[in-house]
Order: sequence, then structure tokens, then C-alpha cells
Amino acid sequence: MAENEKYFAGLDIGGTTVKTVLVDEMGEVAGEMVEVRSQVKDGYKATFGQLESALDQLTSAIGVGRDAVRGIGMDVPAPSCDGVIWGLANLAEDWVGTNVRDELSERLGGTPIYMTNDGNAAALGEYSVRRKHIGGLLLIAPGTGLGGGLVLPGGRAYEGSNGLALEVGHISSPYREGDGELPQCSCGKYGCLEAWVSLVALRRRIGLELEKPENADHPLNDGSSLEEKAFRLRDFAQDGDELAIAIFRQQGQILGYGIADLVRVFDPGLVVLGGGLAESEGFRDDYLNWVKEGFEERAWPMYSHSPIDPEKITTRFEWARGGDSAAALGVAFSAREMFR
Ligand SMILES: [Zn+2]
Repeated sequence: MAENEKYFAGLDIGGTTVKTVLVDEMGEVAGEMVEVRSQVKDGYKATFGQLESALDQLTSAIGVGRDAVRGIGMDVPAPSCDGVIWGLANLAEDWVGTNVRDELSERLGGTPIYMTNDGNAAALGEYSVRRKHIGGLLLIAPGTGLGGGLVLPGGRAYEGSNGLALEVGHISSPYREGDGELPQCSCGKYGCLEAWVSLVALRRRIGLELEKPENADHPLNDGSSLEEKAFRLRDFAQDGDELAIAIFRQQGQILGYGIADLVRVFDPGLVVLGGGLAESEGFRDDYLNWVKEGFEERAWPMYSHSPIDPEKITTRFEWARGGDSAAALGVAFSAREMFR
């Protein structure tokens, strides 16, 4: 290996795992991803120790020293600004209010670090695996909550003035049920998009539906927990169960309404759906059609097709392709853009 070779690391710090990757100057992934169980709840210094040994492992595997790493991208599961996490995080207390970006950079001998949140990192990852894509990209990831990120045309994530942009799960949904009551969100407010579309919302919906007399004989009414029922619901939907399909269809449409509003503001050109559903081939095509139904119901036609050239699609929808390492790759590629 030549001594002047440069590498860029991506560090994806999650609540469950910490994933690290290296890319070279040409943007090729170097070596294998290193993944360890996250110690974020033991404080940021414990995680820094993990990151240092992961960097040693990554660099020694390709036969270079750690000084070959010229820049780092790092993402954290919380909003942050200029290296400082704002709070609201599933992390140990000492992460909040400390400039973790600068502390890590110092510990690594001054290597520059770009830090963002996990939604933006995943969006950057999806951008980076679509190398010919030059427009914007909006990532929407339904999971336990509802995350998102926006990459602007040209490849930078939109962070907002304070690192607080793209909290897509907490925009208001226009959706109302018969009684007009709004479900409470994990953030404490009522009627957020996430309170309608997420794993938590799915459990609530299943509970409400199974209480109805017409669903008394449904096979999911078997005494299992709502967590288990939510976990099994996808299989039911895939097997054609009407109730399961109706629940997912409703979630998809409500998500489509939310995406319509986001597209109206950002006009990203490409909407990428991520989260756990992205992995279930077969079922995910149905889900995407329900999302599009909601989108088309709420957005004007020009947000789907060009009024001048009907062949031209103005908002494309795709499933995530980046897999497990999307966020780590996304911040690694950003570090390469910024620090090479
Ligand atoms: Zn909320």
C-alpha cells in the first residue's frame, strides 16, 4: 500500500449496534464492515473505545495505519448541532451537551469529523449507492418510529439551521378517524404522522380492530401480546387476510398523505422508503402501492407526472437498497467529499 493513500471512515452509532466502514479516495468500499454491540448506554467514552478499536481493525485488515484515515463521518440517533447532541436521545446522559464530535476528533489526533443524525446518514447512504442519481432524495423509514432524511441535489444532507430539520415523524397528519380523536405520539403531542404510521401505531390499530365484534373470531385474537400480533401481521397480509391487508393499506395511505406534503415542500424527485418493510420482498410492492394511493390522493398530478411530458415522472418511489450498512456508508462518503 502506498503511504499517501487516503481513507475515510463511516461510524454509525445506533442504540443496538455500532457499525463502521472504510471507503478509499475513489469512493470504493475498503474491506468489510465491522459491527459491534452498542455501548451507548454506558456513556460516550465507552463508545469512543469501541470506535477506536473498530478503526484499528478496519485499517489493519487492509494493511494501513490508522493515520491513513483522513476524515470521518459519524451519525448519532438524535438531533445534533455543531457536534453537540440536543437531547431526546436513547443514549446515556453524558452524550447530551458534550461536544462529542470535537472530543472524538481530539482523541484520534485531530482527524476531522462530520456529524449528523441517523436519518440523514441513511439518506446519504441511499444517495451514495445510486451513483448516477443527481437529483434530491427524501428518505422515509417507518420502523418503531418514523425517521427520515433529505439529501439535496449535489449530495449534501439538509440539516436545517440547528440540526433539527426533517423530523418527519412529527409533522401533523391530516388523517382523522370517525370519532375525530387523535392518537398520542411518542413525543407527547397528538396526531403526529408517527402516531399513525409506525410499529407503535400498528400495535394500537391491531388492538382497536380486534376489539370490534366482527373481528372476534380472527385468528389473531389468541391471547398473544400486541407486540407478537404486530410481528405476525405481515405474514397474515401476505396470505391474503383481509383485516391485515386493511390495516397495512390504511398505514400506507396515511404515510402517502404525509409524503405528499413533504414533496410539496421539498420536491426531492426521488422518495426512498426504508425501515424494516424494505426487507420483505413480495409484500413491500403492495405496501408501496398503498403509499402511492395516498400520495396521489393528496398531491396534485404534477407531483407525479410532468404536465408537459406525461412520460416524465416527477416523483419516483423506490425501496431502500443500502441495507444494513447504508448509514455508515452515507457518512463515510460525505467525509470523503468534505475532507479529501
Ligand atoms: Zn410526535
